[in-house]
Amino acid sequence: MSTTYTQSIDLSQLDFDPDKLRDKYRHERDKRIRKEGLDQYQTPTGDFTGYVDDPYVEPGFTRAALTDEVEVAIVGGGFGGLLTGARLREAGVRDMRIIDKAGDFGGTWYWNRYPGAQCDVESYIYFPLLEELNYIPSKKYSFAPEILAHAKAIAKKYQLYDNACLRTEVTEIRWDESISRWIISTNHGDKIRAHYVAMANGLLSRPKLPGISGIDSFKGHTFHTSRWDYAYTGGSAEGGLDKLKNKRVGIIGTGATAVQCIPHLGATAKELYVFQRTPSSIDIRNNSTTDQDWVKTLKPGWHQQRMDNFNIIATGGQQDEDLVSDGWTDIFRKLQTILSAAGDSADMSPEDQELAMEIADFQKMEGIRARASSIVKDQKTAEKLKPYYRQFCKRPGFHDEYLDTFNRSSVTLVDTLGQGVERVTEKGVVVDGKEYELDCLIFATGFEVGTNYTSQSGYDVIGKDETALSKKWANSLSTFHGMHSHDFPNCYFIGFTQTGYTANVPHTLNEQAKHIAYVIKYGQDHKATTIEASADAEAEWVATINRLAGMGEKFYAECTPGYYNNEGKGNVGNGFLAGQYGGGPVEFFKILDDWRAEGNLAGLDIS
Ligand code: NDP
Repeated sequence: MSTTYTQSIDLSQLDFDPDKLRDKYRHERDKRIRKEGLDQYQTPTGDFTGYVDDPYVEPGFTRAALTDEVEVAIVGGGFGGLLTGARLREAGVRDMRIIDKAGDFGGTWYWNRYPGAQCDVESYIYFPLLEELNYIPSKKYSFAPEILAHAKAIAKKYQLYDNACLRTEVTEIRWDESISRWIISTNHGDKIRAHYVAMANGLLSRPKLPGISGIDSFKGHTFHTSRWDYAYTGGSAEGGLDKLKNKRVGIIGTGATAVQCIPHLGATAKELYVFQRTPSSIDIRNNSTTDQDWVKTLKPGWHQQRMDNFNIIATGGQQDEDLVSDGWTDIFRKLQTILSAAGDSADMSPEDQELAMEIADFQKMEGIRARASSIVKDQKTAEKLKPYYRQFCKRPGFHDEYLDTFNRSSVTLVDTLGQGVERVTEKGVVVDGKEYELDCLIFATGFEVGTNYTSQSGYDVIGKDETALSKKWANSLSTFHGMHSHDFPNCYFIGFTQTGYTANVPHTLNEQAKHIAYVIKYGQDHKATTIEASADAEAEWVATINRLAGMGEKFYAECTPGYYNNEGKGNVGNGFLAGQYGGGPVEFFKILDDWRAEGNLAGLDIS
């Protein structure tokens, strides 16, 4: 073993060679890099436009155009919009309208109803507003229908259905200087005036397709996982896809979505072909129903405390107890063991601290790889299912039936050696010159990410002096605290725009929602016409983001390509993690708390 640096970590006890693993990771990464980067994907157009339609409502909905005015308009009825609505209601704001193109609230959980859909983050921290709704999820990891029901329960509790515009797609938001109001145009011909607008468009919401040659020539049935076609497959979100029992089914993609639906496809399809480019890491799920005795022990404030505990541990911080204690935090427990064995981590060189994290990661991933060998009987297949990259290079998967699905004689793993499927034909899919004939082809190929903000939202925002957000943010984001942007007064961005990223996404959304509600309430109390980020405050925030950006850069640069690292191009421009606050979410939330505690809206100009 020839690891080059370490004064304090004992590498002799390891049962793997870090150098060999490093080489293997590099080799696996290099063979997956594609020069076309994000351009390898296409948006669903032509034959695929139906992929973005709403299959859960009767088509043909019409209504009279609205030309009224609201105090606050929120675009998006997922957790971001719901939390903002809830926090505004708590602040006493009554005149509010949530607009969403879907037929109901729920966002991600409205659209994604594929069999087995489940949240990978613990329900007791993922579900927002649990104490406010006096609700405890039924399982440690809830399935999609329960999460969707909770979203609707939030909307009911905070009267967010009142005045809502569902089945309404925003086409443009434009600032009217003469009345100091935003004008929201929609596909129903609405021209809604709003004093304040908040945009919670969601991440990963527009389905994307691979730009594979011949993709529209396939004569069989196709759909994207985010618009699951139960009329074709039979069954429900719980599985039982009985109409597939005479069908040859193919699925392209093995990301977090595919991992959850493949066990259901494998259980019923006559034949299932899983086309894999990069294997996911599949950790133990170990789900359990909620222990009512534990529920009885919960004291007021437990929810925030548990969210904070997870957030601190999952970003490398120390806590006396790991309350969630699952596959997300396991790597950090491993890290603590290494650090304790090495003595006082405060005395360690930065190189050794980095090495300790890498060793913990190797240990974690060796465990993941050993799990594949122990569950999958055919060792050649098991080998193909082993991920060779660091755990957080891709969204980690957790499942107790996925790997076992490959023990079924009806299921074939078609590994593309990191290259992706070659082409699609009228009859099926070709990999390495071999055609796999199919009746149905399912795309589990994810969502548009890394493109411009306005491309993902589907509409432009035109601010003061005709400043178009599409132009201002064409090359990179520019905000103050991730939520305000100069030339866009009374306008708030909710999501991952120069903010503190955490794996428990609703946690970030909740912090942003509280913050925006505070600013709007302040504006109301002070009879403000406009509140706008000053150019100086924005420049300073962008400089801070850029200064801290290097922190995760090396890590992602060495990762296998995916949407976390802009398909290997690095976190530049509009990449998913580009422009995240490099100091981490714990620090970011504190910055917001401290700023509110100051109470003078520093950095915002008020008129
Ligand atoms: P992903 O983008 O994660 O996965 C897309 C898959 O398609 C990858 O396996 C990718 O391979 C594959 N692919 C793309 N192009 C080709 C090609 N030409 N040939 C073969 N394969 C191809 O999408 P998902 O829908 O799985 O997940 C999206 C995100 O949604 C997750 O990352 C997660 O954030 C979220 N999610 C969260 C869940 C939760 O529990 N909370 C559950 C499900 C999803 P490659 O890896 O090589 O690029």
